[in-house]
Amino acid sequence: MTGPFAGWICSLAAAALLACACSRESKSADPRHTDTPILPGLPWHVHDPARPHPKTVTPVQTAGEPPSDAVVLFDGKDLSKWVQTVDGREVPPRCKIGDGWFEVVKGTGNIRTREKFGDCRLHVEWASPEVVSGAGQDRGNSGVFLMGLYEIQVLDAWDNPTYADGQAGAIYGQWPPLVNPARRPGEWNTYDIIFEAPRFEGGKLARPAYVTVIWNGVVVHSHREIMGGTVDRQVPHYTPHAAELPLELQDHKDPVRFRNVWIRRIGPSE
Ligand code: MG
Repeated sequence: MTGPFAGWICSLAAAALLACACSRESKSADPRHTDTPILPGLPWHVHDPARPHPKTVTPVQTAGEPPSDAVVLFDGKDLSKWVQTVDGREVPPRCKIGDGWFEVVKGTGNIRTREKFGDCRLHVEWASPEVVSGAGQDRGNSGVFLMGLYEIQVLDAWDNPTYADGQAGAIYGQWPPLVNPARRPGEWNTYDIIFEAPRFEGGKLARPAYVTVIWNGVVVHSHREIMGGTVDRQVPHYTPHAAELPLELQDHKDPVRFRNVWIRRIGPSE
């Protein structure tokens, strides 16, 4: 069949197919699955139409940027989201702030966030000093202390031998990173950390903390169980604490730089 009539038939058929497809889609997009089984341990049916939908979050255009609902802890300009304690008083961090970064000033002490966090996903970028000085634990040492208690080590890990459970990316004193994807001194490293805080019930540990760490895009801990609070040359253990505590960055007397620090709560407290 040729001619205008054939074209008209084709258009009609295409419209019918489209209508059919749309109809199928809208039907399957919102099924009323109330006759399906209940998921184990949950109050929801499989495909339950009453189950709350996730909120919409604006995604990032470039990896490492904060999503729309992140708490930006350092945007390259100021440390107003951080404090430190000096002689028992809470004061603004005495870090050096440069072009989009801040630097630990030797002897000024750890800094901590004003806000408290428990389960979270953290992004932090760090660089050990470009001018190499010292060796082992005395070379580009700092640390990301989740809840102020559980340290993911920051250290110059470029041709800088030290004990494995104390190198960069280690859960300090417990677990070395699976591999060492360190960049050269002075270059920026990224940590993307997913942390599940420990749970305590009746003054006892009910569930340990777990952490996943992605360092420069490489998984170095995958849902690793944390043995307890970070200690040096001792066996770690848990001491009950609050569900949320400040995030802390360590002053280990080395001028380590940080930039682009943001965090997202995970879970119902979000
Ligand atoms: Mg450290």
